Amino acid sequence: MTSARVNTFYRKFECLGGACPASCCKGWNVPVDDETWRYYKSLPGILGTRLRLSQMTRPEPVFALGYKDCEYHDRDGLCRLQKELGIKGIPEVCRRYPRLFENMGEYTAGWLDLSCIHAATLFLSETERMGFTEEIGDAPEVRPSGNNEDGDFLACLEQVREGMIRLLEDAIEKGSMESAGKALLFIPRFSYAAQNACIRGDYGLLLRPMEELAQELPAYEGEAEGYLPCAFSFVDGLFHCFYNSALKKQSPHLYALCQFYLAEYGGQAAEKNEKKHEGLIRAYMEEVPDALAHYLRYIEYSLCQYCFSIYEDYSFTRWMLRGIVDGSLILELMALSRKKEGRDLTSLEKAHVIAVAERRARHNPGTFKRMGKAGQDYFYGECGKEY
Ligand code: SF4
Repeated sequence: MTSARVNTFYRKFECLGGACPASCCKGWNVPVDDETWRYYKSLPGILGTRLRLSQMTRPEPVFALGYKDCEYHDRDGLCRLQKELGIKGIPEVCRRYPRLFENMGEYTAGWLDLSCIHAATLFLSETERMGFTEEIGDAPEVRPSGNNEDGDFLACLEQVREGMIRLLEDAIEKGSMESAGKALLFIPRFSYAAQNACIRGDYGLLLRPMEELAQELPAYEGEAEGYLPCAFSFVDGLFHCFYNSALKKQSPHLYALCQFYLAEYGGQAAEKNEKKHEGLIRAYMEEVPDALAHYLRYIEYSLCQYCFSIYEDYSFTRWMLRGIVDGSLILELMALSRKKEGRDLTSLEKAHVIAVAERRARHNPGTFKRMGKAGQDYFYGECGKEY
């Protein structure tokens, strides 16, 4: 065990077990780590044989679940392996999920993955800013996440993350769509400037107070003008990366919602859709308490995670947008749900939308890549291609 920095709602998590309405024992290919695989290979009897046979090797052993439940997911909603073999009988990923950790060399960071419906529920009830503000002493030892040992750059990134979160928190406090839109459009502007500064080897920009930069940084050539989070052309690009008929099996609810989206916007003039979409998002943001805060805090949550990706590949233009990309699609799905159902969603229903969207958008490598590219194309077009 080691210590780790975590966000504020991390400690509140406890798996719902058999009472979970959207168990994670479904719809994933679960990788089996070396130690657990060795253990399975040594197990005598029918269970040992079954475990060895039920794993495919491609190239590493996995429980391949497809759309189905894990074959060890019992009727009571609990894991048969855990019941029969104890905690050592389940793969490491099942032991930890939804707790994710990154060992950055200087320290380890941990957070809850929102693809877990209970983690998403805790996220929605959070009233504090996101960030690694608490320390725990019982985090697992994890191997370093990458090869970068540039502690100074990591410190710069932390300053960037904190500065951005301050701007977003300020927008939450102001509570208007306009202040949110301003903060959101600053993220790609800053990322573009930071990318160029890093290419020149000049980290000075990263250390400037974000509030000053928000006033001073000029627009880049070809900067997106769409008014966030209401730009239909942006969200529509994301939707078509996200939507797939496979959703019918993964989540009939989200599939029906996507059908509703297609019925709402399909075959209509772009201008009409822009207006319709703006009306939908404005009504949602203005009439649903916390809608704006949830959207902006989701972007904060993403900044926390993806700053570590920037540490590895130095791509500001790719990773800083990720919260806007995923968060805008989730916002669209929530607003559409409300319109479709004719009422506000319960917190559990919202958590369901987040969890399924995360499973599809973040944990499906193809969808993840396509959505990321759609975001970069929207904001940077030609000028962002080299990054
Ligand atoms: S989705 Fe979360 S709460 Fe539900 S079973 Fe999995 S870890 Fe537990």
